[in-house]
Amino acid sequence: MDLIVDYFSNMPTAHRSLLLVGGLTVFFLIENAFPFFRLDYSKWKHTGMNLFFTFTTVIVNFSMAFMLVSVTIWVTDNSFGLINWLSFPLWAQVIFGLMLMDLIGAYLVHWVQHNVKWMWKFHIIHHTDQHLDTTSANRHHPGESVFRFAFTILAVFIVGAPVWLIFLYQSASLVATQFNHSNMNIPEALDTFLSYFIATPRMHRVHHHYREPYSNTNYGNIFSFWDRLFGTFSRVDNEKLVYGLDTHMDAHETENIWELLKIPFVPYRDRIEYEDEEKL
Ligand SMILES: [Zn+2]
Repeated sequence: MDLIVDYFSNMPTAHRSLLLVGGLTVFFLIENAFPFFRLDYSKWKHTGMNLFFTFTTVIVNFSMAFMLVSVTIWVTDNSFGLINWLSFPLWAQVIFGLMLMDLIGAYLVHWVQHNVKWMWKFHIIHHTDQHLDTTSANRHHPGESVFRFAFTILAVFIVGAPVWLIFLYQSASLVATQFNHSNMNIPEALDTFLSYFIATPRMHRVHHHYREPYSNTNYGNIFSFWDRLFGTFSRVDNEKLVYGLDTHMDAHETENIWELLKIPFVPYRDRIEYEDEEKL
């Protein structure tokens, strides 16, 4: 545990960049060698667009990093937040801290974006991807990156997260999202076993089904038990899934960066009401 804390207390920026690029490359190679869906699309065009949104996410995070630094210094200096109040041993701080950071910084902000209309308009961009793979992980409108950053700051405040916990959480969160969006074909039994602990590809793909109610399930990023705890967990045969978003299925919008960037600022489209609830 001391080693983990030591490393993440002084994690070099180069290592963080390496994790982003290295993670994407590893999952990209695996999903190409062992794909779940044989996706019929221009992989390079798709990758280029998603990397553009990954780049804007990095820019947003980088330009706001000073706020995260100020908050973590403040909570540490003032012994503020759950970790400081409960005086847990180090191992419990690592596990409990990571769980709470994931709950607030990923599950909660994701759930809120699905339930608050003006925030949903930003999150639509993430759901318009009709060819889900590891590059979809950070396909976020810059506005969504700001929401996520704000909730991460809230999490640091509530948890009382020191620098090492922030770096540990952000590293785990990054690899988790690249993993659970990937198109790799993990044997079903192994995926099911893992899904009791972490959000797996078979679990998160359901969230990218084009229509409700499935698109409102499986919000989790690192850990899967938040979905089980809050009643948003679902298991579906992935072969039956159709990726995308029913209100935005037109390639003219979903494959054009400028059209995607505009979505939050054009009139809202109601989710489509179907005669029968879909049961997959
Ligand atoms: Zn979502």
